[in-house]
Amino acid sequence: MNRLQKTTLNMLLNYISDDPLEKLPKVIELAEKLDRDNFHATQINTVRNVLLDKNNVWHTFVENLFSEVDTKLIKKLVECFIFNAHFEGRIQRQEASKKYGCNVPWAILMDPTSACNLSCIGCWAAQYGSRHNLSYETLDSICRQGKELGVYFYIFSGGEPLVRRKDIIRLCEAHQDCYFFAFTNGTLVDDELCEDMLRVGNFALAFSIEGNEEATDMRRGKGTYRKVIEAMDRMKSHRLIFGYSTCYHRYNTESVGSDEFVDDMIARGCRFSWNFTYMPVGRDARIDLIATPEQRAYMYRRIREIRNTKPIFAMDFWNDGEYANGCIAGGKHYLHINAAGDVEPCAFIHYSNVNIHDVTLLDALRSPLFMAYRKNQPFNSNMLRPCPLLDNPEMLAAMVKESGAKSTDMEAPEDVDVLCAKTAPAAKAWAEVADRLWAENPKSRK
Ligand code: SF4
Repeated sequence: MNRLQKTTLNMLLNYISDDPLEKLPKVIELAEKLDRDNFHATQINTVRNVLLDKNNVWHTFVENLFSEVDTKLIKKLVECFIFNAHFEGRIQRQEASKKYGCNVPWAILMDPTSACNLSCIGCWAAQYGSRHNLSYETLDSICRQGKELGVYFYIFSGGEPLVRRKDIIRLCEAHQDCYFFAFTNGTLVDDELCEDMLRVGNFALAFSIEGNEEATDMRRGKGTYRKVIEAMDRMKSHRLIFGYSTCYHRYNTESVGSDEFVDDMIARGCRFSWNFTYMPVGRDARIDLIATPEQRAYMYRRIREIRNTKPIFAMDFWNDGEYANGCIAGGKHYLHINAAGDVEPCAFIHYSNVNIHDVTLLDALRSPLFMAYRKNQPFNSNMLRPCPLLDNPEMLAAMVKESGAKSTDMEAPEDVDVLCAKTAPAAKAWAEVADRLWAENPKSRK
């Protein structure tokens, strides 16, 4: 974003921030006047219909956002996440993708450390122990290389990323044109971190929570739920942006999808939710935790209901495949770099040909497994069966073998056939339900 655009955006947000819903009609009027060729007429109309209708849930979302979040953070969100990552970055990424003949992602997920202060059931990070870390210089280099290609959105997972919070804050300061985001267990959030987040402005958190106190503590350890709630209260009192992430599995799906749970998260100040289904990755992964087809169908319907009825931006990593034309991994929209530096197509796919300590980001995007992803995406014509591991396990096995990718599991390398055999029954069971759901979906007829 250049200086003139930045100044204009600041003026606009300053103007509307004290009473956004009163002043938005004037901003929309101005946008219409500037859009002389009606090039953005549809988008402008959508914004008008959605935001100016007092009964629309997004009207409430915007109202809550401006009254509960520091305006500086909203400005940084618009500048870095919306303008740089979505609009400006998209053109750069498209050009780079064409020039280099490979996928160029919208987001990079990286693990600053494999260390974690918890040991959650079914979390692969627990297997890695604390021996792997990406240095500040490596993280910084990934961001610099990413920006050259048009990537302005960086996400941290782990391990517990906030074990490295000093380096993360330093990175946010060094790359003020990027947006940063971390999945955290919430147990390391204190006032000092909140003040740092307020100062840098371009960093948000998603708290991992598994539903109510019993479900969260069952998977994450006793007392964890209370600590997450305390962290949310602290973030809210500092007027920061945060949301939650859940892993829905056989024993908590109905709980995390319930009105009671979602309403409670909204009341605590969450602006968004990431909903992930359980994946049996790793040697000791429990297969019984995989959600049933009925539970996955329940979440498919529930997330759509929540989006239309509650002031929170809800995302479902698998069942939203229809909006992204299937799987987003392999650099199509994102990739994952683990704490040892292995560049993987996805956080759930622990196979790779390359390590970021040995190659450039661009070389990693052109590595055999990433090119196999590019060649085979989407993995299914039914966008509700997007995943090469969970929904089409034969695809992952074929790509790993064809590309010669190695298991990146640091504790115990996992043979791809063994891994895919774990998901094959669930894939078959889901196929029947998903094909029915997809047939009902208007997008399937396009
Ligand atoms: S590999 Fe599976 S889990 Fe990863 S982005 Fe693709 S569909 Fe999602």
